[in-house]
Amino acid sequence: MTDYNYETPWVRVLPLGGLGEIGKNMMVLETADDIVVIDAGVLFPEWNMPGIDIVIPDMDYLEDNADRVRALLITHGHEDHIGAVSHLIKRINIPIYAPAMAEALIHEKLRQAKLRDQVSLEVIRPGEQHYIGGFEVEWFSVCHSVPDSTGIAINTPAGVIIHTGDFKLDNDPVIGSPTDLGVLSDICQDGAFLLMADSTYAEEEGYSASDREIAENIPALIGAAPARVIVSSFASQISRIQIVADACLHYGRKLCVVGRSMINNTKVSREIGHLNIPADLMISSAEANSLPPSKVVILTTGSQGESESGLVRMARNDHKDIQIQDNDTIIMSSSTIPGNEVPVNDSINELVRMGARVITNQETRTHVPGHARKEELRALLNVTRPKYFVPVHGEYRMLKAHADLAISTGVSPENSFILTNGDILELDTDSAEVVDRIEAGHIFVDGLGIWDERGNVINERQALQQNGIVSVAFSRDVTDGSLVGKPKIVSVGFVHKEDAQGLLRETEDALRPVLEQYLKKPNEWNEIEEVVRKTVGSFLSRRTKRRPIIITTSIDV
Ligand SMILES: [Zn+2]
Ligand SMILES: [Zn+2]
Repeated sequence: MTDYNYETPWVRVLPLGGLGEIGKNMMVLETADDIVVIDAGVLFPEWNMPGIDIVIPDMDYLEDNADRVRALLITHGHEDHIGAVSHLIKRINIPIYAPAMAEALIHEKLRQAKLRDQVSLEVIRPGEQHYIGGFEVEWFSVCHSVPDSTGIAINTPAGVIIHTGDFKLDNDPVIGSPTDLGVLSDICQDGAFLLMADSTYAEEEGYSASDREIAENIPALIGAAPARVIVSSFASQISRIQIVADACLHYGRKLCVVGRSMINNTKVSREIGHLNIPADLMISSAEANSLPPSKVVILTTGSQGESESGLVRMARNDHKDIQIQDNDTIIMSSSTIPGNEVPVNDSINELVRMGARVITNQETRTHVPGHARKEELRALLNVTRPKYFVPVHGEYRMLKAHADLAISTGVSPENSFILTNGDILELDTDSAEVVDRIEAGHIFVDGLGIWDERGNVINERQALQQNGIVSVAFSRDVTDGSLVGKPKIVSVGFVHKEDAQGLLRETEDALRPVLEQYLKKPNEWNEIEEVVRKTVGSFLSRRTKRRPIIITTSIDV
């Protein structure tokens, strides 16, 4: 597909994830000689993906073009940007460049995957120039909800490409730097060739709120609490951990951090100097249980109702260290991500039932998101003045709102592209168009298994979840393959036990003559399975209007 005879320099962008979804961000930038990859994130499974741990981008294209892939460039340390790094490195071993916080988190991931010794992982600082393949790469500071967040400016033969990463414009963040519009305006003196920017909040009017508001509200809530306080947040919200720690110091409470990811992120952030917490402020859960409740704050995950998280375990009363007590104040320092409303609501009900008071973001502002709203995005467009625009990091409606906004600031409509994962957009100084499309669907990871959508696993699990399973067994005579006795049918999760008996016996009676007839002549096993599936499936569907999964086995006797 690569054509080396172009007269004008061109560059291709190929999103392998992150468009039409929030998650598994991965953007490929390509010239005739070089490829770099921006971010390698995961998508957390949705309710309709039973049993799936994570979803990662399809990386076949990178493996197929491995000889040209020069590096993985990381914008920041959120899972939707670094969660698939180990999976990528297992496929192609390329150097990784990442800002400090992300580097520390990736280091740990690679160590756990036993890959750390095999790969080059380098910390970058904003403002440094890095020459990677034929690209000149410079990271710039942006404000986001994790420290050391960056955007990336890439000088290509065709012009300067800006990828913002996740960002907002908060001029006074609690931790980290504001978004460096000064540097961006220098880099984009002649206007950016291409801008790719965060679309998460492109539909929201105005400006995002500052973390400073949270830095006032959460301490006030902790100060007013009559007894123990439990704060639940995202483990990656490092500034939130600092705010809670400062409030503990101020009100003479001790801080107990629970949950693997929360403990790990706190440790990493203290090591690289992003958290300033005196060692004697931190206590173990055993110590927390022995102190008076009014002297304790517990910090935990679980703000999204995740079933294995700290807060949800407490709500189920099966947390090994912490039991909810009367008069606990629980501060949910998060907003509920769409799709998680039911589990979040369930755990709030349980916590209240156990005597706790639960304060959510609706009641008092306890959370601000880390993504720019319309007026901030407009400011970015005005500073970078791009020729071409590709909105990234968002569902389709967000990408569309962002593209409309770009057009309203002067980007010409034919230069604004709402891409789909797998689209190959080729740009040069005169024109840009989608020249090809490759496979870029979900890759599912489940324990040690990895498969794509073409396998039937998810569909089968959905069918199992909805309609249960029916197992058909029968015996065949070894000598001529004929049916011996009656077929035997049992079910799991299909119909109520009392109804099952009669229905399944009737199904056996309906299947028997069909099988007797069919097994008289020699048949391939898959044909026999097909006949059983059709006969049993349509009989049960007529009677119950449901289509369970049907499994057939036979025993030669
Ligand atoms: Zn992020
Ligand atoms: Zn993100």
